[in-house]
Amino acid sequence: VILCRLITFSAASLTTMSWRSSGSTNQDLVDRLRDNGLIKNDRIHAALSSVDRKNYCRKGSSPYNDSPQSIGHGATISAPHMHAWCLELLVDHLKPGMKALDVGSGSGYLTAAMAQMVGAEGMVVGVEHLPELVEFSESNVAKDSPELKSQISFHATDGRKGWEEHAPYNAIHVGAAAPEVPKPLLEQLAIGGRMIIPVARGGGGDQYLMQIDRKSELEYVEKSITGVRYVPLGDRGDYY
Ligand code: SAH
Repeated sequence: VILCRLITFSAASLTTMSWRSSGSTNQDLVDRLRDNGLIKNDRIHAALSSVDRKNYCRKGSSPYNDSPQSIGHGATISAPHMHAWCLELLVDHLKPGMKALDVGSGSGYLTAAMAQMVGAEGMVVGVEHLPELVEFSESNVAKDSPELKSQISFHATDGRKGWEEHAPYNAIHVGAAAPEVPKPLLEQLAIGGRMIIPVARGGGGDQYLMQIDRKSELEYVEKSITGVRYVPLGDRGDYY
């Protein structure tokens, strides 16, 4: 595998806008993300409008705040601006009929949003290592968007192995930070496809959101998008 690293540090303007998007309803939150320039694409606006974040948060949380919320077990549903940002980066790889993999699917929120974008002809696989969260995500989708059920499958497994059965994927989103990009995920990315993954190289605390484009069988182009903070893509024992 040839990894060309094109490192660019950028997007400072986005981070300053990120925390101003809280709303009082789901539509309000999504409209504010658009007003603040975090959602640019209409298909993403439509997808996030039809997936109510409240249905993917625990009771007593603040689903329409633009901040992560605890979903138990040491995991969080990511902040809406991070979800919006990842969808923007993946938008050309989430066209109707395409296939996507969501690693560390947690609440199932982003899995559902991606399923809205790929539509009835497409499919999205969510892999999550905590069985309690797989159940949580399944019941969240059933409550929020039952029509998506046939397009989504959740599996309790180590996401570092991906999900071979439906590979290759046009889009791979990873919602937890790995010390290195897991090889099976590189292999399961379609040629022409894109992966978005937070990476914490060298065991330090610094994590970078990486964009990896597969150009051919052996050629990948990697770009650093921004510094981020995600929970670790680790072993089940790290969680509770
Ligand atoms: N996108 C999800 C993110 C949840 S937080 C959401 O917004 O709801 C990250 C998730 O990754 C957690 O649910 C955690 O349990 C899961 N995770 C961590 N390591 C994992 C691994 N090795 N395999 C699968 N899932 C993992």
